[in-house]
Amino acid sequence: MSSEEKIKTIPYGRQTITDADIEAVVSVLKSDFLTQGPSIAEFETKFAAYVGAKYAVALANGTAALHLCAMALDVNKTSRVITTPITFAASANCVRYCGGEVHFADIDPATFLLDINKVRELLQKHPKGYFSGIIPVDFSGNAVNLEAFRKLADDYGCWLIEDACHAPGGYFTDSNNIEQKCGNGVFADLAIFSFHPVKHIATGEGGMITTNDKALYDKLILLRTHGITKESSKFQNQPDEVAQGGWYYEMQELGYNYRLTDFQAALGISQLTRADKNLERRRTLALQYDIAFKGGFILPPLSTPGNAYHLYVIQVSRRLELYNYLRGNNIFAQVHYVPCHLMPYYKQFGFKKGDFPNAENYYDKCLSIPMYHSLSDEDQSFVIKTILEFHKPIITSYT
Ligand SMILES: *Cc1c(COP(=O)(O)O)cnc(C)c1O
Repeated sequence: MSSEEKIKTIPYGRQTITDADIEAVVSVLKSDFLTQGPSIAEFETKFAAYVGAKYAVALANGTAALHLCAMALDVNKTSRVITTPITFAASANCVRYCGGEVHFADIDPATFLLDINKVRELLQKHPKGYFSGIIPVDFSGNAVNLEAFRKLADDYGCWLIEDACHAPGGYFTDSNNIEQKCGNGVFADLAIFSFHPVKHIATGEGGMITTNDKALYDKLILLRTHGITKESSKFQNQPDEVAQGGWYYEMQELGYNYRLTDFQAALGISQLTRADKNLERRRTLALQYDIAFKGGFILPPLSTPGNAYHLYVIQVSRRLELYNYLRGNNIFAQVHYVPCHLMPYYKQFGFKKGDFPNAENYYDKCLSIPMYHSLSDEDQSFVIKTILEFHKPIITSYT
């Protein structure tokens, strides 16, 4: 290996920016609109088509998307919402932004996803109406069976938000053998995506909500811009209070400024054109890892055809040592995630170690190794070689 290759670092995830991406951004910068221009609507239309949903709302980031979902579903201080402890904190935090109570249910140790049986047990412990909603996460890119969650949610009068940040392009196969794409709005009331640079599509910061529900869509549009509307058909003030001038607007809800800029939307549109190709590349990389780790000391993730592989999470017994060994070789693996219920912020609500054993066991062993569409075969081979090399001493010491 040349010295040049040795100083190169291989992260667990990263964005790619092409010349076409740069041109798309520059053309917006040279146009009349930096924000609230035509690129936003185009990005929304194209993204909705990509995931197969009717409506899409572009937002400043995925966290803002979660916040507005919780607001649109009327989460308030009487609300109790169930989510997984193995997710980015934002999945749970959106409930807290609205004053609601977060409840966790354990993960399925095979899929690392929120375990529907654990959610059912939790729901059964209380009268119907006790919980208001469920937020399953397509963790690592593995799509949640939302058909099953929808049925359970309906039985208990709950809404469903799909946190699909890890899974644009991913799908699960429903009971009619139909591939249901993540965020298509068929089962979940609302779905959210993030365009943070480590995600599949990068806009710097950025997010999207998708839905098939027109009423929720209208609410989200209002909340995204301060709760302000300029549409005369929607005015609530009395006719004598409504000015006929073009300046007139009404603030009807306490909304936010959660808008995405037009140049970010242009970047998103450009990135979206490569989404399918990039997804295919992620799946090829996953398959190559699966083959390399088969039957060894490393437990690869469960492979499902619809997995969008935001992350490739292996489970290993000497995780810290491997993590450091990889770093020594300029491979920057990561841990996703420190369980939410063990965060000091959530511990204050009474959560503690031992509450969710599957999540905690998973956390003790998990390691996200490099997975991004621009990862070359050569770099992946180096990652595989380094991981196998690390495990060699154990094998020999046991013989
Ligand atoms: C990235 C991410 C978010 C938050 O998205 P931001 O755009 O960073 O605010 C929420 N949930 C999950 C599962 C994520 O991975």
